[in-house]
Amino acid sequence: MNTETVRHQLNGKRQELVANLNGIRADVMTAKGRVAEDDQAAMEHEEFISIQRNSLNHDTLLLVNQALERLDTGEYGICQACEEPISEKRLKVLPWAKYCVPCQERIALMQTDMPQVGASALEHVEIYA
Ligand SMILES: [Zn+2]
Repeated sequence: MNTETVRHQLNGKRQELVANLNGIRADVMTAKGRVAEDDQAAMEHEEFISIQRNSLNHDTLLLVNQALERLDTGEYGICQACEEPISEKRLKVLPWAKYCVPCQERIALMQTDMPQVGASALEHVEIYA
């Protein structure tokens, strides 16, 4: 794997994300200035979408920054959960991938299940203890 190519890719993505984040913020503000009160509700919806998109960009930016750090420390391409190498195919599609596919899936599942982890989960444990 050519780390310089990856670094170049990641830096490019970072610039793109930073530009997007700044651009979206500017859009929201310009739009707000010229909107009549009748359009305020629609505007707020637009703004909501912008903010959502913004936080998505922000998350990716964080991952890109972390991937650049891992390039520096030589940990790049290693799954942060199981420490196995992440497949090159995956890194080609997602150069800032933090986890290998099985771990990513496991983590996604865990996050989906999170709200259910509570009293009922504890009960479950007690039954089988
Ligand atoms: Zn893994």
